[in-house]
Amino acid sequence: MGKYAALVDVSKCTACRGCQVACKQWNENPAEKTVQVGTYQNPPDLSSLTFTIVRFKENLVGGEVVWNFFKDQCRHCLEPPCKELGDDMAKGAILQDENGAVIFTEKTKDCDFDEIRDACPFDIPRKDQATGIMYKCSFCQDRIASGMIPACIKTCPTGALSFGPRGEILNKAEVRLMELKKTHPAARILDRGDVSWIYLLHQPEVQFQITRRERKPSAMYALRSLWKPFGLFAMGAALVSQVARSRE
Ligand code: SF4
Ligand code: SF4
Repeated sequence: MGKYAALVDVSKCTACRGCQVACKQWNENPAEKTVQVGTYQNPPDLSSLTFTIVRFKENLVGGEVVWNFFKDQCRHCLEPPCKELGDDMAKGAILQDENGAVIFTEKTKDCDFDEIRDACPFDIPRKDQATGIMYKCSFCQDRIASGMIPACIKTCPTGALSFGPRGEILNKAEVRLMELKKTHPAARILDRGDVSWIYLLHQPEVQFQITRRERKPSAMYALRSLWKPFGLFAMGAALVSQVARSRE
């Protein structure tokens, strides 16, 4: 269980994208060339140089156009499927610290990218095509370790993002949910028991450009899970036979 958590109160987001810029600045990631395709979503997707992005979606609700914004990024899962797979592929490729940060290292170049991306319920990991190294938000673990808060949260001008001890953030989310429910009956908190980045939506989830896949093991992970008991059995059998031989 991570010590800290972040709350994204989507009802307070104005899509200013200050968080996107702050993330680029802190991680020294350059801007990417994009083309205008009729949306303010820019760049068009996460990448090895873009760890957070504000996703835009236009909806027709009751005959009126409603514009919904959503800051997408790694949720820092409490039991990260990406790390479970990564541990099997290359030891130390994906780390998790006591504060709740899930961190990709250079060793991710030795992991199967498609498997890792497929295992992520939120479709977050991206790969540098030249080096093979995978990238995503690190929860600004270096800033947190130095007593600072993540760069995007520090920058957010509207109070849409907040950070603190996990218990306090969960309480804050519950209080805000009760408040929002009075005017937005569809308001809900997403994945509160599974992640360190907790999202509070004020409108139906379908109105946001959110990827949320079921937490199901990938084919490779399932095979590995199946294989593990046999591996343990084989180790046990080898040990028993070794003991028997030494007695003889
Ligand atoms: S959101 Fe995806 S990349 Fe982030 S910790 Fe969870 S599984 Fe890993
Ligand atoms: S800085 Fe805050 S208000 Fe601006 S886009 Fe990011 S989350 Fe939304």
